[in-house]
Amino acid sequence: MGIWEMAQKQVDKVAEILNLEDWIHKKIRECRRVLIVSIPVIMDDGHVEVFEGYRVQHNITRGPAKGGIRYHPEVTLDEVKALAMWMTWKCALLDLPFGGGKGGVRCNPKIMSKKEIERLTRRYTAEILPFIGPEKDIPAPDVYTNPEVMAWIMDTYSVDKGYAVPGVVTGKPIEIGGSYGRNEATGRGVYFCILNALKYLNLSPEGIKVAIQGFGNAGSVCAKLLYKEGCKIVAVSDSKGGIYNSKGINIEELIKIKEETGTVLNYKDIDKITNEELLALEVDVLVPAALENQINERNADKIRAKIIAEAANGPTTPEADEILEEKNVFIIPDILANAGGVVVSYFEWVQALQAFFWSEREVNLKLRERMEKTFWKVVDLRESKKIGMRMSAYVIGVGKVAEATRLRGLYP
Ligand code: NAD
Repeated sequence: MGIWEMAQKQVDKVAEILNLEDWIHKKIRECRRVLIVSIPVIMDDGHVEVFEGYRVQHNITRGPAKGGIRYHPEVTLDEVKALAMWMTWKCALLDLPFGGGKGGVRCNPKIMSKKEIERLTRRYTAEILPFIGPEKDIPAPDVYTNPEVMAWIMDTYSVDKGYAVPGVVTGKPIEIGGSYGRNEATGRGVYFCILNALKYLNLSPEGIKVAIQGFGNAGSVCAKLLYKEGCKIVAVSDSKGGIYNSKGINIEELIKIKEETGTVLNYKDIDKITNEELLALEVDVLVPAALENQINERNADKIRAKIIAEAANGPTTPEADEILEEKNVFIIPDILANAGGVVVSYFEWVQALQAFFWSEREVNLKLRERMEKTFWKVVDLRESKKIGMRMSAYVIGVGKVAEATRLRGLYP
């Protein structure tokens, strides 16, 4: 099953549970707007490469579209559509006044120079410019994009308008209107969810074993916070492979090694493992923090973790979900687990619009409050409806979008 089909199937399942009206169900299972752009870029050696890019707005019923931009060689339109849809449910679940959007450019930033990435970003922004804006659609970082890329997007958009428009993107540097705490927000949100899941399952964080797949923004921050909490991070991986040490890895040192050498594989005193081996480790908590479809029908029965906290979007396929449910694995679904990023993006947008900024402490406290409140709401519904955590989160998120659609009605 393709990723977009998988995202639509999830909606169909929720529509049944919610007994949704046919017209609402039909409307919300499609994307509202899809923009495909070609992006010609002058490369450093003078030749021109043309890249394909997308910006998708799945739903804008509850507010402007919100969602990251991904630079990856395997980005497809279907992937971006699915990610945009998941943003819609996530924003609704967390009570943020946003719809869902997502962008992507099919490119390999790992083999491009910084100047090439800047030219690509500026031309992509110019092409999607009529589509985006603080009241229309607000991009943010995702896989292989970062605050610097957001700064170029903000600059390109602002130059076009003739004045600074910090509200057009989130995840930008603090110096140009970014928010304290945004860079760590996704990993911090995952960490809050894990602490609450441990509490719910009567486990103590001290000494629990954790494996983390993907050591980028989401994975490394979550790893650092869990490490500081006393958890034992026994395995970590990145796109080049994984590392394992049964006694635990010093995450602060690992972050330095990754920064200096570009991969976690250069850490000392470890056994090298594959990403598949990492997923199958006997740990308390498994955090997929890389890409989609990592836990699927081929490997789900090998999972031995008690808790899966989905830092990545869509890491588990529906077939794997069923297997994990039977095995009684406690899943913190992506639209809940990784929502910290968009929650603080919302705070950043609010701060930019009112030009009044908050302290890091304030941001982190507000993030914690919202993540915890939502976590327990999902747990309560799971218990009362006797459904899984994922379905529970979806019922809340999709339910709110459905209600907004019902209230606004269908134009014309
Ligand atoms: P990133 O670019 O900072 O890091 C991605 C990491 O994944 C890198 O360490 C990379 O080496 C690793 N990776 C790539 N392919 C891999 C593979 N096949 N196996 C193992 N590791 C692999 O990206 P990020 O922002 O941390 O995003 C990671 C996931 O989190 C994505 O699914 C993204 O959609 C999701 N997410 C990110 C944010 C955010 O604010 N950055 C918010 C919500 C969700």
